[in-house]
Amino acid sequence: MKCRHCHAELLIPFVDLGKTPPSNAYLTKEKLARPEKRFPLKVMVCHKCWLVQTEDCVSADKLFDDEYAYFSSYSAIWLEHVADYVEKMVGRFALNEDSFVIEIAANDGCLLERFRSHAIPLMGIEPTRSTADTARARGIEILGRFFGNAVAIQLAAQGRSADLMVANNVVAHVPDINDFVSGFATLLKSSGVATFEFPHLVRLVEESQFDTIYHEHYSYLSMTSVDSIFESNGLRIFDVERLPTHGGSLRVFAQRADSALLRRSSSVDLLLEEEARLGVGGKAYYAGFQRKVARVREGLLDFLENAKQDGKRVAAYGAAAKGNTLLNVSGAGVEMIPYVVDRSRAKQGKFTPGSRIPIVEESRLKEEKPDYILILPWNLREEIMGQLDYARAWGGKFALAVPELTIL
Ligand SMILES: [Zn+2]
Repeated sequence: MKCRHCHAELLIPFVDLGKTPPSNAYLTKEKLARPEKRFPLKVMVCHKCWLVQTEDCVSADKLFDDEYAYFSSYSAIWLEHVADYVEKMVGRFALNEDSFVIEIAANDGCLLERFRSHAIPLMGIEPTRSTADTARARGIEILGRFFGNAVAIQLAAQGRSADLMVANNVVAHVPDINDFVSGFATLLKSSGVATFEFPHLVRLVEESQFDTIYHEHYSYLSMTSVDSIFESNGLRIFDVERLPTHGGSLRVFAQRADSALLRRSSSVDLLLEEEARLGVGGKAYYAGFQRKVARVREGLLDFLENAKQDGKRVAAYGAAAKGNTLLNVSGAGVEMIPYVVDRSRAKQGKFTPGSRIPIVEESRLKEEKPDYILILPWNLREEIMGQLDYARAWGGKFALAVPELTIL
């Protein structure tokens, strides 16, 4: 396979997680009878541009189908994050009723709703019908397409160029990253700004976050690779911030390279230098990650086996994509974890893909009073431990598997 950005042959393996079903392909009871489609989950590194990327296997329309079950509004911390972002952008870029904001992958519209409260004209682009319908029900205009340069050309021709384009947790999820990024250069006004949030590859490597790898997640981005991808697609990065979200993300600010009105902040070069020091632009940095995965897997299985031997009961919390990668790679099934609790009604009554563990309502925890609650979305641990604090009353403890098995 060739690099999705620079088309060099991909020669450096990063990690091979075996064959797994798509992480958001939750199963209904009827579907349990049929075998699931599994696809190789293998990540390679480009030795020319250092883009870390999954090998081609599943097409995007199979992954983001009408039953796609991820809704942004389920996390209170994410809603706070979004509110903070909107206030900052409105202030920093002086957005008002004469501006136009476009969000790519607008999901259920929780971010755009915040811009609307400032009376700023806006639209969202969201190909997944279930989430787009929720946004529309909130009165938000949604274009139900995958974003790329063709969509950008159409919108620009309709006079809908943007002052701000928002792309939170989407750039890593697109197969054709060049076409996607060049769409921003096409659709931004010459004074416009685009912001992108994505998990930082350095955190993934340093903290063994292999469970953030799944088929929907095509790219694992460093500043080093993003700077090169943006430059060659008509965007210039002028600022970067570090965020705590999703285990450590970057928020990158970019403008059209042909306008480049804003001066590049030193934070961009400092981060590039830091990555250079760590060795992000070298083969050795990526070696050894497979061993880190094996250590996490062993840690989790030891914990589950010991708990079983000691007659302790374990429940899992949070049937998110991350958890599905962890469960599938570790091979932990329903005999070790009898159920996963999730607040999303869309998931309750279904089964986790691959590991086939029933997804149940939170009331089950109160009924069964498990000894351990394994928190699968470790990035939300504080929020989840707060929600489930009542489990302490029966002596319940919380466990995390990544970066290493920890009892809290
Ligand atoms: Zn490349």
